[in-house]
Order: sequence, then C-alpha cells, then structure tokens
Amino acid sequence: MTEPGSDLPTGQPFEHLWTPYRMAYIRGEGKPTGAHDCPFCVIPTMPDDEGLIVARGSTVFAVLNLYPYNAGHLMVVPYRHVPDYTDLTAEEVAELGDFTQTAMRTIRAVAGAHGFNIGMNQGSVAGAGIADHLHQHTVPRWGGDTNFMPVVGLTRVLPQVLRETRDLLAAAWPDHAVPAAPTTHPSTRAEA
Ligand SMILES: [Zn+2]
Repeated sequence: MTEPGSDLPTGQPFEHLWTPYRMAYIRGEGKPTGAHDCPFCVIPTMPDDEGLIVARGSTVFAVLNLYPYNAGHLMVVPYRHVPDYTDLTAEEVAELGDFTQTAMRTIRAVAGAHGFNIGMNQGSVAGAGIADHLHQHTVPRWGGDTNFMPVVGLTRVLPQVLRETRDLLAAAWPDHAVPAAPTTHPSTRAEA
C-alpha cells in the first residue's frame, strides 16, 4: 500500500498503523458469509472489551469500527437485524440520535475532535460493507487528521490501540450521555 521511498514522514507511521486491519478487510476476513454470522448481531453477545462496545442502550449500541477510517471511528447500530433506516421504529430512531450526540460529545471530550463525518450508507451500491444490518458511522476529524492516536500507535499494536480507545470512550461515555444523568443537568429535566 505504501509507495517505496515514500516521503511522508507523518503519513508513513499512520499508514503502518492502520494498514494491517485494512489488509485483513481486503482479504475478506471477518466479512459475513450469511445472516448467522452477521457481525452486528454477534458483537452484542460478546463482552464489551472483546466486542469493542463503547456503550449499550435499550435498542442500539455503540461500537468501535474494526476497520477505522480514523481514530475513534465508531458506529451506532440497532440490535435488530434490519437493513434500512425506514425499518427503524421511532424509539430506535430516537436512541440512535441520542447515541450519536453522546458519541460526538464523548469523542470531543476525550480526544478533542475538531469535526465529524456522520452518516449511513444504505445498500451495497452506496458503499455499505455490511448492507443487511444498518449502522451509522461517526468518524471524528482533526485538522490534518493528526491526533494522539497515531503517536500512541507508534509503540502499540493496533488491536491494543483499539482496546485502549474503547476503554477511554466507554469510561467517558456516561458523563456525556443523552439524556444526561440526573446529577448532571437537574434543572433541565422537566417534569411532565
Ligand atoms: Zn445483523
């Protein structure tokens, strides 16, 4: 993937850091071969640290992407195996929105993200890698996309980086959850 003699002093470590998983992805490892091994159905059955789950809601969960486009790239996924945004119930839409807000707050707090790309690819033709199970991407962006993770990555193997990232985000998540914990914004919790 890296051109011989690459003259990108900062890009090269980044390339080395992320290439192994992308190569595994290209080779098809971990890609689902049928409904039964849909990764988004399997992940919630795993312990949080093994599944890289950052937080669990009642209808959706947040999980780090094993093939990240950027450090902290996570996805908000409904537990139900449905392909299309129009398949979601009102409750699922609401919690997916809540989790997306919380993900943004948490990543800003933990890693100082400058911006985000948020969205979902609907259908293989639109670029969905796992088209049968809806997932919304939240990809943090930094100016120049340089941040603390590539630096950490120089001394860590990527699976460990992902686990450490998960630990950081999971620990900070409750402080930024929507609706906020009662102790956080008691004045905003209107009584019906
Ligand atoms: Zn599924």
